[in-house]
Amino acid sequence: MVRVGFGYDVHRLVEGRELWLGGVLIPHTVGALGHSDADVLLHAVCDALLGAVALGDIGFHFPDTDARWKGADSKVLLKAVVGLLHERGWQVGNVDATLVLERPKIMPHVPAMRAVMAPLLGVAEDAVSIKATTNEKVGFVGREEGVCAYAVALVQRTA
Ligand code: MG
Repeated sequence: MVRVGFGYDVHRLVEGRELWLGGVLIPHTVGALGHSDADVLLHAVCDALLGAVALGDIGFHFPDTDARWKGADSKVLLKAVVGLLHERGWQVGNVDATLVLERPKIMPHVPAMRAVMAPLLGVAEDAVSIKATTNEKVGFVGREEGVCAYAVALVQRTA
């Protein structure tokens, strides 16, 4: 038995913040604003996984009103989400995600992201797909005011 889930997230880009994407610190002139480390890619993946098993969303499990998650490493959140799935008899099959931002170039960082995310998800690196596109200078992403991510995840019954 398999299920599929979808996730979307967006964060503002501002000066004086780090840019964490896919669990990797990306050198850039601006970073993502958020209560946690604002890793938009990991947040979209968390929501895809939660969606696949109809367990709500990341805001429900890790509310930004809770001081425990202030400055949180999103890798910890992803690991917790995968743990929730395991407890309920589900394992991750594969994840496919798309980042949308104008700069910087993401492809050089994709191998590092896959290497970080695969063990957290409990899958091989070839089950973690990360793609990137610009928004062709259109809208808030095009003006470099924000970054967004979309993800789908397939999960399967462990027994
Ligand atoms: Mg988020």
